[in-house]
Amino acid sequence: MSSTQASIDRTSTAGSEHLDAIVIGAGFAGLYQLHSLRDRLGLKVRVLEAGSGVGGTWYWNRYPGARCDSESYYYSFSFSDELQQEWGWSERYPEHGEIRRYLNFVADKFDLRRDIQFDTRVRSASFDEAANLWHVVTEGGTRLSAQFLITAVGCLSSANIPKIAGLESFRGQWYHTGRWPQEDVDFTGKRVGLIGTGSTGIQATPVIAAKAAHLTVFQRTANYSIPARNGPVSPEEQREIKANYAAIREQARNSPNGHPFDISPVSALEAPPDERLARYEAAWERGGLRFRAAFKDLLTNKAANDTASDFIRAKIRGIVKDPAVAEMLTPKDHPFATKRPPIDSEYFETFNRDNVTLVDIKASPIVEITPDGIRTKDAEIPLDIIVFATGFDAMTGPLLAVDIRGRDGIALRDSWSAGPRTYLGLQVAGFPNLFTITGPGSPSVLTNMPVAIEQHVDWISRCIRHMRDQGLTRIEADAAAAEAWVAHVNDAANATLLPLANSSWYLGANVPGKPRVFMPYAGGMANYAMICEKVAAKGYEGFILSDPAVPEARGGRGAMVG
Ligand code: NAP
Repeated sequence: MSSTQASIDRTSTAGSEHLDAIVIGAGFAGLYQLHSLRDRLGLKVRVLEAGSGVGGTWYWNRYPGARCDSESYYYSFSFSDELQQEWGWSERYPEHGEIRRYLNFVADKFDLRRDIQFDTRVRSASFDEAANLWHVVTEGGTRLSAQFLITAVGCLSSANIPKIAGLESFRGQWYHTGRWPQEDVDFTGKRVGLIGTGSTGIQATPVIAAKAAHLTVFQRTANYSIPARNGPVSPEEQREIKANYAAIREQARNSPNGHPFDISPVSALEAPPDERLARYEAAWERGGLRFRAAFKDLLTNKAANDTASDFIRAKIRGIVKDPAVAEMLTPKDHPFATKRPPIDSEYFETFNRDNVTLVDIKASPIVEITPDGIRTKDAEIPLDIIVFATGFDAMTGPLLAVDIRGRDGIALRDSWSAGPRTYLGLQVAGFPNLFTITGPGSPSVLTNMPVAIEQHVDWISRCIRHMRDQGLTRIEADAAAAEAWVAHVNDAANATLLPLANSSWYLGANVPGKPRVFMPYAGGMANYAMICEKVAAKGYEGFILSDPAVPEARGGRGAMVG
């Protein structure tokens, strides 16, 4: 028996089931964390999941048109070659149902379901300092305890439903895209209002417009969007991808954003105008997020970015036939890609349809929802269905939805009242043995998520293995290291154009009252992974490791790595 095991057994677990680790969430992160801790380290693990099935964000996001904006062959797990050879993707950008089928396949292949408790929402988690364990209580009243608590709650899972007066009086149906019902919603012959023109609204608009009698899109901020150019993956492409997976994964891990493609070494300002245009045209034709890689400085140099922003604005004006509508759809208040760039299938083209109307709610704000529709400053629009594509309380929302209490009962909500403060996005000072997969302060949403998730899960699992090997039972971020990391996250964001988007969810600006703090780490995925490696190699520098049951704890307190 290892010393870690011995100390687990010493703890009081009366009245609740005891585990080595509790993982919250059964999306990409929770599934891999379970496999990693249970099947590689031999830990007793339980995953608690609010949904009735695996999938995380993909369990809930079933809205019409929902599909991934990263390409299927790399928006997937790399940890098992057998898995990536067995699974075949049918489309360039997988649709939500296909991603769920994939995650169910993963759950079955690695026999994960037996340790996942579905339909179980976690209400609270509190750290018991004397016993050195976490007590978790679910909405159903189940009590569990564990040495480690690992959140795999995703960054975009807490739905942001705007508080618009009168919603409760609406006689039709209303839905938030991130809480879409399991059964299809039939738009046939219906008058539909859609609020929000982020990635979600932009995906849903063409699909709803094709079915509805009339679609009214309520736009607050015009957005850039790049055509996805979705299509089937041919058998030859499948074979080629599978034969080259090692290199593809390696390239993704070593890139700044977790995508397996090179960013051009050329500045948009150095390229002669005709060459620049030709590159943008080629990138537009190819489609997808790779458009951002057309030049090296689109996210760091405003003048360089202007060339891309202007190119897309010209495309919008070229596609949308009514010049007044085109003008409304043309983004002016932020540079391209400073908000997560949506990719679309015929979004701008949809506004050429007779059954689609665009309402600029900055010019004519929504006043209230009435029993029959939406009333703006200038008109009442009768509706049968309202779709809120209004996004998420991103990154902190899913964590703060659980009442998490650390040392001395301090609430995470209070600890983060001025914005999230983490060390490496992995731990919070004052919350020992709590790991936050893709937490605020890590690259997470600025990268291809599976790459970010695998890096975190591998790092956490290695850290726990190290603790077991060394007889250490507690790890906690050092407060000074966390402060230094928060400052570094700010500096990294300020070295880019990203903070220029005032209404971005990266900044928490989409949720009224939320502290405006740039939450993800913009210093690049590969760079971030290197920092994490360095921290581990230096004996978990910036973390305090100990075994509270042993007075002279081994372990240590490290300095910050920048
Ligand atoms: P979002 O980017 O936050 O967009 C929400 C939209 O709703 C914005 O247009 C916003 O306007 C509007 N809005 C918010 N509150 C409003 C209010 N009170 N009144 C009127 N309009 C309001 O959310 P999202 O589109 O769901 O996308 C979030 C993220 O999820 C994406 O950036 C992406 O990372 C991810 N996602 C990915 C995919 C994919 O893989 N293809 C698909 C969907 C989403 P303002 O801009 O003015 O705030």
